[in-house]
Amino acid sequence: MTFVKGLWDTRSKECLVSAILVLALSGCLLVLASWFDLASKRLLMLGCINIIAALGLGLFSGMTGILSLGHIMFFGIGAYVSAWFTLPRAMKPILLPKMPGFILETQWPLYTAVIPAIIVTLLLGALTGLVMRRLRETSAVIASFGFLIIGYLLFIGLKPLTNGKQSLYGLPLRELNWPLVLTALVVVVGFAFWVKSSRLGRMGEAFREEEGAARAIGIESNNAIFWLWVLSAGIMGLGGALFAHAIGVVSPTAFYLDKTFALLVIVIVGGYRSLTGCAVGAIIITIIEELLKHTESSLSALSGQTIFGLFKMPPVFGFTAICFSLIILLVFYLRPDGIVGYREMATFGWAKRLFGRWVYRTPQNVNATDYQVASEAELKTQDLGKSYGAFRAMSKVNLNVKAGEIVGLIGPNGAGKSTFINTITGALFATDGKILLQNDDATLWSSVKLARDGLGRTFQNIRVFSALSVLENIIAAVNVKHPELTRIEAQAIAWGWARRLSLENFIHEQAENLSYGDRRRLEIARALALEPKFLLLDEPAAGMNPAETQALTALLREIVDQIGCGIIIVEHDLPMVMKLCDRIVVLNKGDQIASGTPQKVANDPVVIEAYIGDEGVV
Ligand code: ADP
Ligand code: MG
Repeated sequence: MTFVKGLWDTRSKECLVSAILVLALSGCLLVLASWFDLASKRLLMLGCINIIAALGLGLFSGMTGILSLGHIMFFGIGAYVSAWFTLPRAMKPILLPKMPGFILETQWPLYTAVIPAIIVTLLLGALTGLVMRRLRETSAVIASFGFLIIGYLLFIGLKPLTNGKQSLYGLPLRELNWPLVLTALVVVVGFAFWVKSSRLGRMGEAFREEEGAARAIGIESNNAIFWLWVLSAGIMGLGGALFAHAIGVVSPTAFYLDKTFALLVIVIVGGYRSLTGCAVGAIIITIIEELLKHTESSLSALSGQTIFGLFKMPPVFGFTAICFSLIILLVFYLRPDGIVGYREMATFGWAKRLFGRWVYRTPQNVNATDYQVASEAELKTQDLGKSYGAFRAMSKVNLNVKAGEIVGLIGPNGAGKSTFINTITGALFATDGKILLQNDDATLWSSVKLARDGLGRTFQNIRVFSALSVLENIIAAVNVKHPELTRIEAQAIAWGWARRLSLENFIHEQAENLSYGDRRRLEIARALALEPKFLLLDEPAAGMNPAETQALTALLREIVDQIGCGIIIVEHDLPMVMKLCDRIVVLNKGDQIASGTPQKVANDPVVIEAYIGDEGVV
């Protein structure tokens, strides 16, 4: 019971409402279509299978942002594997004579045969996932396309398993019935939204929005990619098994370019970054496809005849495919993110009015953790340097910060301040020197490891997870720090950080809609939710108005006093730095030219010469 009790955070509620609405919408449209006699029963089932396939692809592509061109391979594998088990016993010796005996002798109903189909696709998903997890952007898309081609060639080449080009025919069509299709639909919709509401979904989306920032809060994006790929492969396997029994034949060409294109049309039109988009795309395209086919056959009937006495109707060829291409172009032109874009059904205006009070209710318990940093914690660099070829962006920086200290890092533009922050947090690797965290040599640690071991950071060019809400941005970090917490508990902590950084009023707002200053504070909240020993802030006050800057100064001091963490702050606002910092380190053209108390640095002639003097600030 405690599990169920701890489950319903805002995101879970949003996903539950969306799942129910998506199912309701699918149901309504199916009923409507059959009412108007738009589609035969089998076509309606195909519509449901389209939704399943679209959600399968959406689970991976939507959450990682990597548009896979290879998912139809899993669809095909599901089809073949289920066919091995459902083909009539009499047919198997003819179609698959070399299959092992136990397969030749079985003849399972489809609802059992989907199980091996799912298992095999999950396994092959895991195998191919080992490659996918390392790839990004274009190379990931091309690799997925490679899998499609390999799959196609194997379907042809592995004759003992697939009967090659001759196909597996004679699948029992009666095996595909409404109870099975609807159960599969409900399970897949539920599962996809459940994954989306889980930590894995959030990790995937954080990666999609900003990989650098995701790594900076300790999210190992490779793992998120891997698991989303595997799970989505399993859904495709299920979809493929059902699909094979809707058409009765499994052939290599059925699972190649045409089908891939058809699936892409669905998710692109609907909007592949949201599961709602994928489902809506599937419904719309199923209906449009039916209309287009009717039109195409009517037009073909006219071919050869003279129209209005004006011209002779040419033979009609590829009408449906051309129309689909035009639809894709139109959608890309008018709504590049698809009809639905990033949103799930629960966030539509009308759904918010209906369910918003339940979904977005403020939790009763809201508490940021008042964690404590041990007073001996220390972060130190020894002659840290970073070169790009012969150009030294930073050299011989010796900086140390202890728990409870605030150290300022200042210097003119291009001095190497961001380079320092990026190097010490593992976003860049040092070319010289050492980073010491406590007594460990952390020079070669990845940003993920550094984040998990106590370094929280913000970026000079703000990197929030734009499409996620303020709350989601912070929970992503809480999840990493406290994987053991229930969703409600994690949300309560994140909410607490939002409150502490004055973000509560727009806690459900998408991060991209926030003002500059608010986004900077969101980055700080997200970094703090990691409960870091040291906080590294790269120009946190840039873009803030004076009142905000003052509030931030007070807040940082308060956090250090209460929690005892150490802060390294890069800032151009010198009055703020002078007021806030215990010590200041000055960089100029990559070199450390001074360090000491604010007073000492302010009066250092070298510093005045290099930097402060001509601005006359101090
Ligand atoms: P700032 O002190 O303004 O934050 P940076 O650390 O961003 O300065 O940059 C320090 C120097 O390193 C600059 O001269 C910048 O042009 C250079 N630099 C930064 N990134 C790269 C890169 N990827 N390749 C080459 N030079 C770089
Ligand atoms: Mg900088």
